[in-house]
Amino acid sequence: MTAFLLLTTLAVIVINGWSLWDAWQHRLKEKEDDARNLSVSLARQAEDTFLQVDISLGEVVRHLRQNGLEYAATPAFTRQLQEQQAKLTQLHSLSVFDADGNRVATSGRYIPAKFSNADREYFIWHRTHTDANVHISHVIYSRSTADLFIPVTVRLDDSAGNFAGIVLAAVKVDYFKHFYSYYTLGERDELGLILTDTSILYMRPFPDTFIDRRLTASPLFKTPQKASNSGNDTWRSSLDGVNRIFGHARFGRYPLIVLVGYDRDRLRSEWLSANLTAVVLNLVLLAVIIGMGLIVLRQVRTSVRNQLELTQTKDELTTINRTLQSLALVDGLTGLANRRHFDALLDQGLERSRKSGEPISLIMMDIDFFKHYNDTYGHVAGDMCLKKVGGLLSNVTHRHTDLVARYGGEEFAIILPFTNAADAKKIADGAVRAIREAGMVHGATALPNKVVTISAGCCTIIADGHEGEATQFRERADAMLYEAKHRGRNRAMAAG
Ligand code: GH3
Ligand code: MG
Ligand code: MG
Repeated sequence: MTAFLLLTTLAVIVINGWSLWDAWQHRLKEKEDDARNLSVSLARQAEDTFLQVDISLGEVVRHLRQNGLEYAATPAFTRQLQEQQAKLTQLHSLSVFDADGNRVATSGRYIPAKFSNADREYFIWHRTHTDANVHISHVIYSRSTADLFIPVTVRLDDSAGNFAGIVLAAVKVDYFKHFYSYYTLGERDELGLILTDTSILYMRPFPDTFIDRRLTASPLFKTPQKASNSGNDTWRSSLDGVNRIFGHARFGRYPLIVLVGYDRDRLRSEWLSANLTAVVLNLVLLAVIIGMGLIVLRQVRTSVRNQLELTQTKDELTTINRTLQSLALVDGLTGLANRRHFDALLDQGLERSRKSGEPISLIMMDIDFFKHYNDTYGHVAGDMCLKKVGGLLSNVTHRHTDLVARYGGEEFAIILPFTNAADAKKIADGAVRAIREAGMVHGATALPNKVVTISAGCCTIIADGHEGEATQFRERADAMLYEAKHRGRNRAMAAG
């Protein structure tokens, strides 16, 4: 029972622990897949967003190359820029700057009187690089409208191949902000667009002040290969110290990485609250099982103890019963049948004789001068003598139906069923002889041989079952005993 309880407890704990652990692992895996999938699709979206801008910039460059750089200052070109911009919602504006950084055309509504972009990082980059590809720079505040935008630029060359200025497409940070806000996410879940040089273009849920921060400390950039592929990992954010399950993705065309991070603590508390009811119910169930088990255990213990006590009592009773039974039928001193047993068997013998018509004999015996023996040797020696005589008498009969009994005091009796007078007399003579020849010294006997002797009286009848037959039978054997005493003792007398 104890082993069963221990096993049950262990099983419940192990099964619950295992299923909890399994559920947690499952959730983690699910979240990792989610993060990776979302980062891949957002990377695709980001690349498409910039690809459209890239194509638009290509259009502008193509026009200027066809019509010459002077064409930029014409109202027709401005209209064209405005048309291009209207096509793309992510675009804040399209502008053209000359080799000195002065704005010569824009799709924006107004041009400040004096305006130079010559100090901007992207301007310097194009001036020093002949690369014809688009360049995506760090987020900047628009000097004209104070909006946040991501500058996407391309270099303009004159006919001789010298630096002639740039075309700038300002991509709205708000565009990503809006797009990312469509996703239902936790308060501390992260969605971010990052440049491969580790600077943030936009990062939800952080305020704008986090834009353009460097993520050099992030594990994402610890190993160069990591940032160049899509993948999964869990790390503590360098921005706010929150442990997140991250998925990140990058497509090759632009230096952009999308980072998706799910708050791991929130996931854990969700997992806990989802499983808490089951765990509590299981614990209650376990407590009930243990409680019931303990009750049953106590009852089993009590019942086993009761059973043991019962068995013990039964054994004791059996022993007492046996003792009582033998006490009732056996004479304590000599081990012969007692008077009660004698009476019962005499009645039984008479009944059988009556039924069968066979004779039954009875021998009554009495030790001679036993009073003197006691007086001379004491009662203890007298008892020893009685015991010895009993033992000797028990050997004079041979049939199992015969019964030797201590009739009382120093008197003995033998019931001999199916035995005629002659045979009974022989047995009685044998008994007298056996005692005499045993030679137990009896100095106080009036007989000359000075040994213990007995006298015996025999009677044989065929019972007819009349009233008081047993008493008469006894009295007649007794009378023969008396006769033997009268005739000098140490002898057997038979009736008739
Ligand atoms: P008799 O030859 O005429 O039978 O003489 P007796 O002395 O044997 O006869 P009596 O009946 O006068 O005495 C019987 C004595 O047997 C009396 C008693 O002291 C003794 N006796 C009877 N039962 C016991 C017994 O259980 N133990 C002992 N030690 N003595 C017993
Ligand atoms: Mg007597
Ligand atoms: Mg006597």
